Parts: sequence; structure tokens; C-alpha cells
Amino acid sequence: MPRRTRLRKVVEPPRFKGYRPYGVNSKRRESIELLYEEYEAIKLADYDLMNHKEAAEIMGISRPTFARIYEAARRKIAQALVEAKNIKTVYGNAIMDKDWFVCNKCHARFNIPKTMTSDKCPACNSNDIESLNK
Ligand SMILES: [Zn+2]
Repeated sequence: MPRRTRLRKVVEPPRFKGYRPYGVNSKRRESIELLYEEYEAIKLADYDLMNHKEAAEIMGISRPTFARIYEAARRKIAQALVEAKNIKTVYGNAIMDKDWFVCNKCHARFNIPKTMTSDKCPACNSNDIESLNK
């Protein structure tokens, strides 16, 4: 039986779809795909300044798994920085307790409880919304 990857809890999706370097001339620049859980690991450890034990608990994973995700995230960001690559955020193996959406018109990010159904952006009322969950 193939080993299933356990889902990693992510409190909030990243507030961007990606990052792009400027001041470099390249039209067909490669992108590095940063998974939601890798973004979350960086946020918890380097932004919220949690230790690995606390961060692993929040994400519902073991400490070694957290360390691996965190290491992968740092390497990707370092590679993007040094090689002037785009960073694209992708879903990965994340799990979020709410349904998150992004509005393609005003770029607001919002969540609605799973029990509710809505198809409009609460900020601008646009119908052009996109789910950030898989
Ligand atoms: Zn909107």
C-alpha cells in the first residue's frame, strides 16, 4: 500500500499568489513552487518566532516532519533569491479548517464556514471569486 502523506494544517493561506524579482531581464523565468505548508513553516518559525515543537503542534505533524518541511522551504526561498526565480505558492498537502477564497477583482482574501454557501466577495460583491482550497 502506498504511504499517504498526512495533511498539514495551515491556519491561513499566503496573502499572495507569488513573488517576482525585479531588476533582472528574463521573460521566461522559471518559477519555484512553494507549498502552503512550507509557507506556514517559515511563518511560524521565522515570523512568529516559535520553536519547532510549538510549530509542529500547530500544524498537527511531528517535529522531524516539521523540520523537513521548514528546511525545504528555506532552500526554495534561498534558491529563488540567488537564481532570481519567481516564487509561486501552491496548495501542496495543506488542510485548512475553513474554505478560503480570493476575489479576482479586488484581490481580497476571505473565508466562509463550510456550512455556509456564498458566491460573492464580501468586500466588493463580485462573483469572480476563486477557491484557495483544493
Ligand atoms: Zn472583491
